[in-house]
Amino acid sequence: MPDIGFVNGRFMPLREAMVPVEDRGFQFGDGVYEVIRTYCGAPFQLEAHLARLERSARAIELPLSFTSQEWARYVVEGIRIGGYAESKVYIQLTRGVAPREHQFPASVRPTTVMTVREMHSVDARLRTQGVGVLTMEDLRWGRCDIKSVNLLANVMARQRAHLAGAFEAVFVRGGEVTEGAVSNVMVVMQGALVTEPEGERILSGVTRDVALTLARKEGVAVQERPIGLDELRGADEMFLTGTTVEILPVVRVDDAVVGSGKPGDITKMLYDRFQRSLGS
Ligand code: PLP
Repeated sequence: MPDIGFVNGRFMPLREAMVPVEDRGFQFGDGVYEVIRTYCGAPFQLEAHLARLERSARAIELPLSFTSQEWARYVVEGIRIGGYAESKVYIQLTRGVAPREHQFPASVRPTTVMTVREMHSVDARLRTQGVGVLTMEDLRWGRCDIKSVNLLANVMARQRAHLAGAFEAVFVRGGEVTEGAVSNVMVVMQGALVTEPEGERILSGVTRDVALTLARKEGVAVQERPIGLDELRGADEMFLTGTTVEILPVVRVDDAVVGSGKPGDITKMLYDRFQRSLGS
């Protein structure tokens, strides 16, 4: 079976999945999305992802075409049709098709799109050696808690990081580290795990929540507070969390080495516990 597309309740091969030019997602980025991956063929943290999709949709006053229960069935069905060992499911909801006017159309029929493709994990070498990140000013809007399809600032940032040979862009707002372009950022300082608190400056990452829960369970102190850029540079350990990166060690920030220059012990322990939790 080829990659799977799904448009407004109907499955089809991805190459046949089409959305009209006047879709507001295309014209304005007027929509929200989710990315869900599988482990052992089962969607990971599906309820949390669907709850966040609902929150994002509500935040932009977008009516939902399907309930979370219906979405859960479609996601599982898409994964089954795709038949991959591991799948990456992308869901996008937009404010539908209408003549191009900024204000909401009088009657909204949202466009609902899903794709299912094969999931490829991050290169194992990056995981064992750790990655580099490039810090830069956070030029995004003030509602980063909404998983909006407006990703231009993230796209520009990640491209800049890529050109600099870094794996991820790390955003800094008012001298404080917020998150990455596709991930949340965590550091270890004096044995405590520190990360930006939930709020409008970051996306409430599903993997962030899993990592913090695992850390607390292992007796690691967790501080949800802003991290100063200076603190970041002096951190003992650093890692990224996210659906695609899982728990990924960072060993370089700009031109500076993090800690010993190798993935840190707490980072490695959390990744190990994360992996083990997937089997249970
Ligand atoms: N922050 C941003 C800006 C993201 O785009 C993502 C994931 O796409 C994350 C954080 C991590 O979120 P999650 O763990 O739910 O994938």
